[in-house]
Amino acid sequence: MLSPRVIGPAPNPDRRCHIKATLHEMEKDAIWGDVCRNLDTEDYLGDDYCILHNPNPKKDPKEFTDIIEARLKSNHCYYQAVVFPVPFETNHVDFKLPLNFFHAVFYSYIDILDGQITNIYLDYATFHGSVRFYHLNFSQSATFTFSHFKNNASFMGSWFERSDFNHAVFDHKAEFNSWAKFRDDVNFSNVKFQGEVDFNSCTFEKAVRFENSEFSDAHVTSFKRSEFQSDVIFDGAAINCYFDFEGDSSRRVFVKNASMSMRNTRVNKPEHLTFHTVDLRPNWFVNVDSRKFVFTDVKWINIDWWREKGFWNNFRNLVHSTLLGLRRFSTGKGEEANENIAEELKSLENRGFDLQRKRLLAIACRQLAVNAEDNNQYDDASKFRFMAMETRRLDHGGWRRVLNLYWIYKWTSGYGESWRRAALVLFGVWFLFGIFYWQLGSFNSEHLFDLPQSLGYSSLVMLLQKPEPRPASNFTFTLYILETIFAPLQVALLALAIRRKFMR
Ligand SMILES: [Zn+2]
Repeated sequence: MLSPRVIGPAPNPDRRCHIKATLHEMEKDAIWGDVCRNLDTEDYLGDDYCILHNPNPKKDPKEFTDIIEARLKSNHCYYQAVVFPVPFETNHVDFKLPLNFFHAVFYSYIDILDGQITNIYLDYATFHGSVRFYHLNFSQSATFTFSHFKNNASFMGSWFERSDFNHAVFDHKAEFNSWAKFRDDVNFSNVKFQGEVDFNSCTFEKAVRFENSEFSDAHVTSFKRSEFQSDVIFDGAAINCYFDFEGDSSRRVFVKNASMSMRNTRVNKPEHLTFHTVDLRPNWFVNVDSRKFVFTDVKWINIDWWREKGFWNNFRNLVHSTLLGLRRFSTGKGEEANENIAEELKSLENRGFDLQRKRLLAIACRQLAVNAEDNNQYDDASKFRFMAMETRRLDHGGWRRVLNLYWIYKWTSGYGESWRRAALVLFGVWFLFGIFYWQLGSFNSEHLFDLPQSLGYSSLVMLLQKPEPRPASNFTFTLYILETIFAPLQVALLALAIRRKFMR
């Protein structure tokens, strides 16, 4: 047996500690100087190792523990590639110096409860036993990149500042629940979650990334009563499990400045992705097929504004947008007239979409409309269809924004979604032509029309009844023809809007 600490010259280079981890020579040099320093080596399966790096899980636990405890007590920071054969347990201990556990291997469990760790580096570490970091305050940084958790990993109630789990692998359950909190950006990109994932009641104050992460099947990933206060990014992730976002009346998961991205997210079973009692925005579903996602009690932000302000506000908007169109036409600049859509497009721009934002948003809205329609949420379906059409209309610049079919469709029937508007326009057509016939018309009969008669005449023209007397001037004939074209079209639009309302 070797003595735990040998005071004396550096070990003979030929009998240097082997250090099993795949490391550069420079890194090994540092480890020889810091970790293996003053430790003698012994042979294990043909290679020489110091007691800390010896990969034998049955190495002397007492000797190992004595060295580790002495070093922790003397504020030693370096434990790279150390192989722990024994549990690592502390309770109410504060670690003020940075702890470096790069490439460390833990054969037994880790229990670090209720303390503070200023900086800890567990990159490339392997955890064979369970890991419990309960109610810890990682007060500056905690990194777990390329680490491998081969058993349950729990960070229950812990608070993180800067933290990084890039390329980590969780073979079993991963828990970041019980009011755990990420106070700075956290990176879960390229992580493989192979067991249950529990982020319940976790708060993300800054951005969280799950880019290209994998959530394996037969398990549940849940974000119940979690809170995202900034960006959450699932771009390129593969979701193969039940995936739950569920809020309640006090915590609706996505707060005001939150934004979600599911760009090219692969959702294996879309009917397993559920959003329950949460606030969402349409632009978050750009570049992902949302038609089968499950939306229950969802409040959609930015889909109402344009419709709920009433006809006269819409009329004012028409004037406004026409003026803007003019300005756009003359200067090439100008804002969008629809604040909702402008905000959604801005959000897409902030998320790095530079081309075809309007087209993508329109597609996303159409898919959400199909989803709502399939789930009998006709009101939402109607709003999404309206938004999709409106976005397509705004895709045109300048005058073409106003003088196109979208525009006519919008103002005559709210893209077939508003029976009130269709009825009002039909009424307008009937009334206006009545006035025209009364004031401007000339007819074969000597008989002069009064207003009620003119309106009656307009009704008959509208119903294609070819009323007498016949128009006498070209102008009156043109009016007559125009009404026989527009009135039936408007009747058809009204019928369509009513049908949308009642029959699906
Ligand atoms: Zn060593």
